[in-house]
Amino acid sequence: MKSRHFTYLNPLSSHILKTPAHVQSDILPVLIVGAGPAGLFCALSLAQNGVKVRILDKADRFYVGSRGYGVQANGACLSRDYLEGILRGHLAKYGVKVELGQGLVAIEQRDDLVKAGISPFQAGQATGDTKIIEAQYLVGADGARGASRELLGLTFQGKLTMQTVWFGTM
Ligand SMILES: Cc1cc2nc3c(=O)[nH]c(=O)nc-3n(C[C@H](O)[C@H](O)[C@H](O)COP(=O)(O)OP(=O)(O)OC[C@H]3O[C@@H](n4cnc5c(N)ncnc54)[C@H](O)[C@@H]3O)c2cc1C
Repeated sequence: MKSRHFTYLNPLSSHILKTPAHVQSDILPVLIVGAGPAGLFCALSLAQNGVKVRILDKADRFYVGSRGYGVQANGACLSRDYLEGILRGHLAKYGVKVELGQGLVAIEQRDDLVKAGISPFQAGQATGDTKIIEAQYLVGADGARGASRELLGLTFQGKLTMQTVWFGTM
């Protein structure tokens, strides 16, 4: 695991060390990267326990449709967008809104905090103007192909398989 170093996914974010004006001074308790089921559940659990959180996602809109994903719950299969909508609705009661179009592109870990380089995203691509969010903890809930695992140099356990799957929404 890398620490005390910025690691970058793309060159657009490399200027964040040189732009102290972008640094936000207040220390957020928890920054959650990724507003899928894991990130939303985490955000809601923390908010319900009085922990201030921010949650962001690089997607520029909430996806509508099954996306081929479902979440199995007590034998009933809830569509993913439906479940996520419920979670976002509960989160809103705690004043937490998912910040869309904001993606993680860099991480610096320190003993007392983590600095996250956040870039605006459009159509899945970082568009520059990276700013730093400082937090006591960063939760990488950005999925199997997300940036946080890669930025931290963590390995992927298990093996990948190639499958062709057809989904339909009824
Ligand atoms: C083809 C397929 C079919 C599946 N079918 C089922 C099923 O039927 N039932 C079931 O229970 N599970 C299913 N799964 C598994 C399920 O989709 C995952 O377990 C679940 O989506 C994981 O949720 P997550 O919140 O961890 O990550 P994700 O759902 O992947 O969410 C990650 C979020 O992070 C965001 N993100 C990514 N990178 C960044 C970044 N750099 N910065 C900010 N945000 C970022 C993404 O936009 C996304 O919104 C399936 C998975 C696949 C691939």
